[in-house]
Amino acid sequence: MPTSNAALSNLGAIDAAHHLHPFTNMTKLNATGTRIIERGQGSHIFDSKGNKYLDAFAGLWCVNVGYGRKEIADAVYRQMQELPYYNAFFGTTTPPTVLLSEKITAHAGHLKHVFFTSSGSEATDTWFRMARVYWAAKGKPSKKQIIARRNGYHGSTVAGASLGGMKHMHEQGSLPIEDIHHIGQPYWYVEGGDLSPEEFGLKIARELEAKLDELGEDNVAAFVGEPIQGAGGVIVPPETYWPEIARICKERNILLVTDEVICGFGRLGSWFGHQHFGVEPDLAPVAKGLSSGYLPIGGVLVSDRVAEVIKAGDFFHGYTYSGHPVCAAAALENLRIIEEEKLVERVRDDIGPYFAKAWQSLLDHDMVGEAQSVGLMGGLQLALDKKTRQRFEDPDATGTWVRNKCIEMGLIMRATDDRMLASPPLVITHEEVDFMVSTLRKALDAAWKELR
Ligand code: PMP
Repeated sequence: MPTSNAALSNLGAIDAAHHLHPFTNMTKLNATGTRIIERGQGSHIFDSKGNKYLDAFAGLWCVNVGYGRKEIADAVYRQMQELPYYNAFFGTTTPPTVLLSEKITAHAGHLKHVFFTSSGSEATDTWFRMARVYWAAKGKPSKKQIIARRNGYHGSTVAGASLGGMKHMHEQGSLPIEDIHHIGQPYWYVEGGDLSPEEFGLKIARELEAKLDELGEDNVAAFVGEPIQGAGGVIVPPETYWPEIARICKERNILLVTDEVICGFGRLGSWFGHQHFGVEPDLAPVAKGLSSGYLPIGGVLVSDRVAEVIKAGDFFHGYTYSGHPVCAAAALENLRIIEEEKLVERVRDDIGPYFAKAWQSLLDHDMVGEAQSVGLMGGLQLALDKKTRQRFEDPDATGTWVRNKCIEMGLIMRATDDRMLASPPLVITHEEVDFMVSTLRKALDAAWKELR
């Protein structure tokens, strides 16, 4: 790294002086100091103080093949030397970009086309525009409103933050923008009341029907949801939910968009989350696991139905880095690893079931109300009284306390309010899963003593 030793020994102070972190209260962060992560290998990361952590969050839901993959570094280095950049705007493209479009769609069934972006947020903006262009080209320009969900997450651009259902994001900068509506989330534990999960799944899905009645389906372009809400708390919907949503979208003639930014590329033990839930979206934004985070790349997978219309005319949309050749080379190599090491099958048949069992073993803890998981994506609901599903008074402080305790003990986890979230690399070993769950149990023991 071409920088002086003095600068390296002073990174914390430089960071505090100059670096504005995402989703961070900088005053609070600078009071405690930032953690500088220097290195990663397999499912572990190492900080500048020499601490080792099991990264049960795969960076930010993205390092699916784990850290330290020399094959990806080599592929990137080769492509950098050959051609570091060229665009796809004016009748040109590059070899890795073309090959990536073939490889990614080979796993996506009826979604046979892809539009590349650099991130999940850009992918959100892309399908958002595409959905409206689609209906306008079909002679229905009034079909432009979009229905999303409370507590969903679709990125941080203006469209992304608007479509997401995060109240604190909406409060900053007068969001959501117009023509975006939110319906309920399939969060049975907190919102299900006396209904069974199956009954609640149907009830909450039917809020889409009610919203369509209210708005008129001739004014609605699409519905969007994450197969499993990630940032919202790894909320696994009841089994009845997705088929009902798909039925409504079909009957009422609106596009179905599944946001695969987290659920894609093996996380749920399927190539894409919608495959796990057995529904067929018209559009599916992806990012994160596409390159395992080694370089930024995302995209929107597009069905024949939508692609035919988009292909028929000009789509005035694109980014300088759409299909960036070096990012595409990283993604190609990443997908090759996922295929060759059969990581999707590993999650489905081996480590996913192993993780589910270990995760569910926490259900005997007084503080655990629910332990949900699919593949390698887990949500653990904390509770003050599990019999009555009563929560702690300050859910956010409770989750943060447990998370900090885990970090102290060498385990990186995340909390959303009072849900603990796990999303480890797909290469995590059985022993590492054991460490994750036993460490989390210790943190829960400490929290139960301290917070009850
Ligand atoms: N959609 C979902 C479901 C996400 O989880 C995220 C990021 N966490 C995004 C979109 C936005 O992706 P990015 O941060 O790459 O813009």
